Amino acid sequence: MRRPRAPRAWKEFEKVSFYKKSEVFVNQIELQGDVKVALIYPNDYRVASANLSFHDLFERFNALGNVRCERFFYDRSFEKFYSIDSRTPLDEFRIWAISIHFELDILNVLELLRRFKVPLFSEERLGHHPVIVIGGALTYFNTALLELIADVVHIGDLSESFLSALGSLKSYIDRKEIIAALSGQKGRTCDSCFEERLASGVFITPHSVFGDRFLIEIGRSCFRKCRFCVVGYCFGPARFRGLDEVMKLMETASHLTNKFGLIAATVTDYPYLEELLNFIEKRDYQVSVSSLRLDALNEKLLTILRKSGQEQFTIAPEGGSQRLRNLYGKGISGEQILSALKLGRMVGFRHVKLYYIYGAVFESEEDRREIVETAKLCRELGYSKVTLSLNPLIPKPGTPLGALPMQDRRILRGLERNLALALRSVGAKADFESIKESVIQFSLANMDRNGGREFLLWINNNKKGREFLYKYAERINLQRKE
Ligand code: SF4
Repeated sequence: MRRPRAPRAWKEFEKVSFYKKSEVFVNQIELQGDVKVALIYPNDYRVASANLSFHDLFERFNALGNVRCERFFYDRSFEKFYSIDSRTPLDEFRIWAISIHFELDILNVLELLRRFKVPLFSEERLGHHPVIVIGGALTYFNTALLELIADVVHIGDLSESFLSALGSLKSYIDRKEIIAALSGQKGRTCDSCFEERLASGVFITPHSVFGDRFLIEIGRSCFRKCRFCVVGYCFGPARFRGLDEVMKLMETASHLTNKFGLIAATVTDYPYLEELLNFIEKRDYQVSVSSLRLDALNEKLLTILRKSGQEQFTIAPEGGSQRLRNLYGKGISGEQILSALKLGRMVGFRHVKLYYIYGAVFESEEDRREIVETAKLCRELGYSKVTLSLNPLIPKPGTPLGALPMQDRRILRGLERNLALALRSVGAKADFESIKESVIQFSLANMDRNGGREFLLWINNNKKGREFLYKYAERINLQRKE
């Protein structure tokens, strides 16, 4: 490990070292191979360390023996980009494996490539450039832009064939040979990219967005078919981890922590939830969960969450009115929302957070009024703090609502203003997802190959990517409204 001399590089080095020192590993990971792979999560450390694929890929790549995989995260202020594991600068790695899970992170990837003067178009790269491999959740529903950027796009779950190709690489082979070996799965489509193996945490850090919990993926994908949701439509059949395996993982990590984070699209759909809760109760473990279905809640689960220190009860009605919930395919009634809210109060929650989608082109004033009515009901039921998380509908490819236009930015701003005022009048706090970022998300999620080319050329000309993306959203909307 070489310590930098320049003050800026030193600061960067110190920041990465600070996170490294905070990590406690559940199992020892040996870094011994000579094929150097940089595993890059294109967002900050808090988000990266909460993402289970960041853990899983790190463990599985290093298990290959020939590979020395080190972790990197994105920070706008960085120049060198030191690895978390040995503080080696990023440009010393031959293969950059980038795991993209959110559309906006693509902007960080492009910025990273530009900082290192790596051409944005894969076809322009030369022998001395790193091999850019891209995988992650975005590859389940749109790879058009990613295919222009990446030398290799790995679609869907990490496959055994990819691992064996990576495991066969020698350190002396050149860029072309690496790409040829790793592209072996060409032709793999989103319809056949699902594996049974689920992920679990490799290290624990208090700086993750989930706090110092050991994370266990208990389920992947979702058998519900909410009509706006890529998880239900594009992530393959719902798969769950066996109960024995979950309990064993908890026991193995229990010498380090009694705090666990259960990760699934909907934890309440876990088929062995009752037995798992009994086990958690018996061991007096503390748990948090990634998400719940409000029609599948039970007293035991909420009591355990309360006892685990969770202050806020969170549910996602998504649609204000029954009409909207039906259009969204949510399968949730007003009575079920009321029962869930009463149950939350009964087990002692005083804070509630409700997730809603607003601004669909088919939404009416009446639909939105019911959002406000539900917030009012929460206050009447005795919740002292009521927060509404309001997110514009972003039509995404592969879903039944995916071909809709996104509501115009100006209209969304008006809706945001009115909803904020109405919610304030009933004593609720409104927490709006940024409209600008939602529009960018819409553009990136729906970008086709031609749009992708234009976008990369635009950035190559030193123009602001965001400006292109606002215009691109207008263009998609125009086509969809014709
Ligand atoms: S919104 Fe939730 S319940 Fe509906 S399909 Fe997506 S993950 Fe499943």
